[in-house]
Amino acid sequence: MENRRLEPGRLVVASHNKGKLKEINQLLEPFGFEVVSAGDLDLPEPVEDGDTFEANAAIKALASAKVSGYPALADDSGFCVEALDNDPGVYSARWAGPGKDFSVAMQKVEDKLQELGAENRNAYFVAVLCVAWPDGHTQFYRGEVHGKAIWPPRGLEGFGYDPMFVPDGFEKTFGEMDQASKQRNPDGSALSHRARAFDLFKAECL
Ligand code: IMP
Repeated sequence: MENRRLEPGRLVVASHNKGKLKEINQLLEPFGFEVVSAGDLDLPEPVEDGDTFEANAAIKALASAKVSGYPALADDSGFCVEALDNDPGVYSARWAGPGKDFSVAMQKVEDKLQELGAENRNAYFVAVLCVAWPDGHTQFYRGEVHGKAIWPPRGLEGFGYDPMFVPDGFEKTFGEMDQASKQRNPDGSALSHRARAFDLFKAECL
């Protein structure tokens, strides 16, 4: 099936996360969409029980598109550590436990690497965007940023696993970069996984 562009009009952002909504709204602003969130429309939050980022992004986007009758955009993301078979991966949020404490999640990553005596510290972030239409058509955009899992964590910026990740070619962790430098290189090219996925989405869909 041919890939589609999004026509200006209503677009549902299939997320209940305020931070993500803000980021996505900013991105879509120049393109003339009437952006509404799944929360604005009282759409239920589906269970994200897929075992890939693509599956979870599709679950969220399809649920919103089918119920609302408008195209919907969702993202799913996580932190993958090579020596841990790419865990925590789709379970990144869950590793932080019910208290959503990412110092616990980062310690868990480090403890597992120590248990294995792993020398390979390669790690990467993944973000997958899924656009779904009410007829069930989906398109996917995947962004990755590769680097190293370091210990101890450094920096108070960002969120999640940012303080233990140094992207290739940099000395600072994502936790030591301000928001703008985490997203884009000085030449404007995308650095973060999310910015990379957004750029691919923009090029094909907008
Ligand atoms: P979800 O996409 O809302 O399911 O969240 C996935 C989890 O991955 C987040 O809770 C974070 O722990 C982690 N994660 C995703 N993107 C980032 C990032 O840019 N920095 C740090 N952690 C991230």
